[in-house]
Amino acid sequence: MNETVHDENVGKWTMVIDLDQCTGCQACVTACSMENNVAFVGEADAAYGRGMHWIRVVREWNGEMPDLTADFRPVMCQQCGEAPCEPVCPVFASTKSVPEQINLQVYNRCIGTRYCGNNCPYIARTFNWFDYERPEPLNFQLNPDVTVRSRGVMEKCTFCVQRIRRGEEDANAEGRPVHDGDVTPACAQACPAQAITFGDITDPESRVAKLARSARAERFLEEVGTEPRVIYLKGNGKVVREG
Ligand code: SF4
Repeated sequence: MNETVHDENVGKWTMVIDLDQCTGCQACVTACSMENNVAFVGEADAAYGRGMHWIRVVREWNGEMPDLTADFRPVMCQQCGEAPCEPVCPVFASTKSVPEQINLQVYNRCIGTRYCGNNCPYIARTFNWFDYERPEPLNFQLNPDVTVRSRGVMEKCTFCVQRIRRGEEDANAEGRPVHDGDVTPACAQACPAQAITFGDITDPESRVAKLARSARAERFLEEVGTEPRVIYLKGNGKVVREG
């Protein structure tokens, strides 16, 4: 993908992740969980496959030992233009915002069928099997800008929509448009390698628009036709040493 192709129906907020820069440290996973009040499921439920992170870092191996290399791919909701989660929800809890086309999850509409999670090729959605506890003092760290989800509700990355709203409100109060860099999701803010960039791809001068024009730009599982708004910059692989 060498040029920025934008369709009004696909939205403007875009994330670009440089796999060459990602070291797999998982700071983005932690920051996302803290920002978005993601539940701590505990060791037993995690072992049962009920982890609730909104981002997971996938290791991708290339070649064979001793020439083995690895890339780390942070995977969150890909904010698909043609989102497979949406048509299968019987109550339209998985839907897009207007006009930005951010894929949202309407928590108080969700009835927990999990059809959306099963239909997501990125396995980006997580389900609240229980009302997970936050014993003191962990309850004090909850972000008041984000809903605390209850049992039986599906959830996933929103591109930190609360931060997008804050950026828009601040710009509105100052009587100006939102500038590139005004909105930074928690994952991008926390990434020590600055592997994650976020912005408006309809602005040809924005950092994401420039990165999206890179010869290394690709979309994850592009062949399934979901038209994701997360763009990855291909990595060359990090050398893996024996022992
Ligand atoms: S914080 Fe940055 S370097 Fe670490 S895993 Fe996430 S994207 Fe990769």
